[in-house]
Amino acid sequence: MCFRPPSAAKAIKCPSCGMFNPPTLEKCKKCGADMVKPKDVTDEK
Ligand SMILES: [Zn+2]
Repeated sequence: MCFRPPSAAKAIKCPSCGMFNPPTLEKCKKCGADMVKPKDVTDEK
């Protein structure tokens, strides 16, 4: 079994600085960049 800690599994990695933030944050707590939500990605140009 490869179980990851809930905090790590739900953590969203900042595309800008690589900081892991909780999904509750819309912006990175370190650099303030907008967080990208994997389940809410719109592939619209
Ligand atoms: Zn960041």
